[in-house]
Amino acid sequence: DDETALDMFRALVADSPDSPLLDYFDNSLSVDDIDRLSDSLAAGLSDGGFHEGDRLALYLQNVPQYVVTLLAVWKLKGIAVAINPMLTGHEVSKLLADSTPKVLVCLDELFTLGIATAVANSTVTRVITTSPLDWRATIADSSIVANTVDGLDGCEDLSELIKHNDNRKPPHLSPVPDDVAVITYTSGTTGVPKGAMNSHRNVATGGRAYRDWFGLGRDDIILGIAPLFHVTGLSGHIASTLAAGARLILLYRFTVDEVARVVRDKRPTFTVGAITAFIALANSPEVRHADLASLTKVASGGAPVAAATIDNFEDLFGSYIHNVYGMTETTSPVLAVPMNSRAPVGTQTEALSVGVPVITADVAVVGDDGLPVAVGELGEVAVSGPQVITGYWNNPAADAEAFRNGRLLTGDVGYRDDAGWFYLVDRRKDMIIASGYKVWPREVEDTLYKHEAVLEAGVVGQPDDYRGESVMAFVSLRDGFETTPQELIDFCRSRMAAYKYPREVVIVDAIPKTVTGKVLRRELRPGIQPELH
Ligand code: ATP
Ligand code: MG
Repeated sequence: DDETALDMFRALVADSPDSPLLDYFDNSLSVDDIDRLSDSLAAGLSDGGFHEGDRLALYLQNVPQYVVTLLAVWKLKGIAVAINPMLTGHEVSKLLADSTPKVLVCLDELFTLGIATAVANSTVTRVITTSPLDWRATIADSSIVANTVDGLDGCEDLSELIKHNDNRKPPHLSPVPDDVAVITYTSGTTGVPKGAMNSHRNVATGGRAYRDWFGLGRDDIILGIAPLFHVTGLSGHIASTLAAGARLILLYRFTVDEVARVVRDKRPTFTVGAITAFIALANSPEVRHADLASLTKVASGGAPVAAATIDNFEDLFGSYIHNVYGMTETTSPVLAVPMNSRAPVGTQTEALSVGVPVITADVAVVGDDGLPVAVGELGEVAVSGPQVITGYWNNPAADAEAFRNGRLLTGDVGYRDDAGWFYLVDRRKDMIIASGYKVWPREVEDTLYKHEAVLEAGVVGQPDDYRGESVMAFVSLRDGFETTPQELIDFCRSRMAAYKYPREVVIVDAIPKTVTGKVLRRELRPGIQPELH
């Protein structure tokens, strides 16, 4: 299937221009609204010399302007660069230097001095700012909220630019499946973020994977709680909406209250997000069973999920959370728990399965020689298929490390059972070798989580003259609970083999995490100490 996400959108324009496509606060934008807005923006960008292959960086929260700008870029065969809006000056500088965009579209309230400096030292020649309040008012009467931030000299306003080009059409171009659609950056959990070149084929496959796996169609309403700058939002919200002809609800920020309100008012049927979002909902006394009743298709991806979390959510809200596994480099899931199944528990560890290969993903578990290992044996998960990128942006060293025998090596260690379910053990880079034995930090973390006082845990290897490496754990504690490092060491010692239990436990205020909710073990490794308790 060679249809791109832009082709899917154009089919909707031809078919059902009046269907609502995007909801944001009290506004609803139809397919035709989004088409006109993105045409006008594309015309304005084209006048400014934005051409095929040029990059435009998006530095936005989940606002409708994200979707409009993305479509405008695709209409010009350009490449969008998705930048996490939580990154600040120095980090943004590095991503701009890497991706060399001509244009930056930025939320005015995020435009700080740090960003201005980053932009001034970059290839960006045109900065277009927009207010998160725009399009909260009705587009039809063009009541545009003015920028509220000072110091935006030299920036254009997105709504003004669109209004100025009202009713214009850009040259009619169509990206082909191999063209790069978006550069997305990996979360930086194991090192410096790498730019993945997600092609139009990759993005469209991601949209179809969600559509087909969760049976999404015209009647579905998708709740957009994952960040749009991450592949989960790109495939699970934007591309899935276009593939299914569904309707997308965007929330500016994820707060439990806002989600509860939107779910009550708009009755969404599907969502995919980080497990931390579902934990927050389950822990809120405000959210009731009836509130979430419409949300019958729920998926979580990006980080390990504990069985207890899934059970608790189902008890409270009646929906089973379907684990999905994927990464920036695969644009979308490669493994997922099917709609009418439940994830089994593994035989090697207590972790739940991350599912079976989604349509179009070819998943293998390979050994050090790159060849598939036997069922039940540990190896590195390797993937190929139309959702997998063909390479990183501007990073041949990362390409050389990641691709082997036509497959992407994911860096994740796992195994497959004889029924075809896959299980993850840990990240390959995080393996600890203690006295010559392999220790997977996640197994130690999972044991620590069984202790009632432990809120979060991160386990790393510590250089050790005698053992080579020894296991070291950092934990944060639940409110109102107390424990000591020695008690936690004893707790683990009584439950694990002698080479596995932590020799040192440090209690900290908080465990460092990425914005996508993953524990940053690399910040815990000796040398970079977090603030001690
Ligand atoms: P970096 O590549 O920069 O170190 P990252 O790998 O965390 O960062 P992402 O692409 O956002 O960046 O995350 C993909 C990774 O997240 C996977 O390789 C895997 O380790 C983890 N992951 C994804 N889904 C799941 C899941 N369902 N269960 C457990 N881990 C998951
Ligand atoms: Mg990665």
